Amino acid sequence: MDKQIGTPAATVEIMKKFNISPSKSLGQNFLIDNNILDKIIAAGEITKKDHVVEVGPGIGSLTQRLAEVAGKLTVIEKDKHLIPVLKEVLAPYTNISYIAEDVLKVDWTAIVSERERLKVIANLPYYITTPIVMGLLENRVPTELMVFMVQREVAERMVAGPGGKDYGSLSIAVQFYSQPEIVTIVPPTVFIPRPNVDSAVIKLITLEKPPIDVLSEEIFFKVVRASFQQRRKTLRNSLSKSPELPISKEQVEEALEAAGINPQLRGEKLSLKEFGFISDQIYQLIKNK
Ligand code: SAM
Repeated sequence: MDKQIGTPAATVEIMKKFNISPSKSLGQNFLIDNNILDKIIAAGEITKKDHVVEVGPGIGSLTQRLAEVAGKLTVIEKDKHLIPVLKEVLAPYTNISYIAEDVLKVDWTAIVSERERLKVIANLPYYITTPIVMGLLENRVPTELMVFMVQREVAERMVAGPGGKDYGSLSIAVQFYSQPEIVTIVPPTVFIPRPNVDSAVIKLITLEKPPIDVLSEEIFFKVVRASFQQRRKTLRNSLSKSPELPISKEQVEEALEAAGINPQLRGEKLSLKEFGFISDQIYQLIKNK
């Protein structure tokens, strides 16, 4: 296709031609607005040196724009019916590799070559935003940056700091591995079909190393999860009742005191650094048991 796919007319034309009815269960909401596509492309700072991976190319509106600017583009699409559509509408672009798979099952080592650092850019299927983003971060898929269209509320949780209602395990996990920034808020009108929620483009710049040093990342994330499991509980209660952490109430109190944290506080008040102090104390307690 010579013309832009990301317009209402071209999208409707492709959907008619290939008899596509967007699947709700696969989170198919196609982007039809070139201004938003411009913003995603600009946030990705993509050059011909880049290997870009797109999750969920759909019928190719973002894919086309990425193929124009990237050196190499790998797209991962679960809906096998869309692969022949993409291959036809994107036939002029010879730098695209197609993977017809579930992104949660994909073998990243087969995609990324040694010493390469990917840019992952996507209008994500909203029903699995967190597993996709956390999978990339926790498994340390070698990325330089990621730009995602996500539900607005999820983007706000990713950038939230201590104190507010949006702050939680997702904020901490995202900020442990990356520097997140909301690029723009996006209304439902720029998609076919329209989602029921506002969206946002978020940029995550992968950190070389986490902003805090912890003795055990595993214990750190267990402490974070336990602290937010029941948001209204004090730290003392939530940490001692966690099935993931084998420690008594007395030991929790000991650890919190050693970390200099008031046991009556709730998790939502603590910074990343404070969670780090607590988790190091708990790690030492468990290790010395
Ligand atoms: N990139 C297109 C666009 O912007 O118009 C489509 C985005 S749409 C919000 C999400 C896409 O992700 C759909 O094409 C859907 O089929 C695909 N998808 C859903 N679940 C997936 C999964 N587990 N793995 C890979 N792709 C998936």
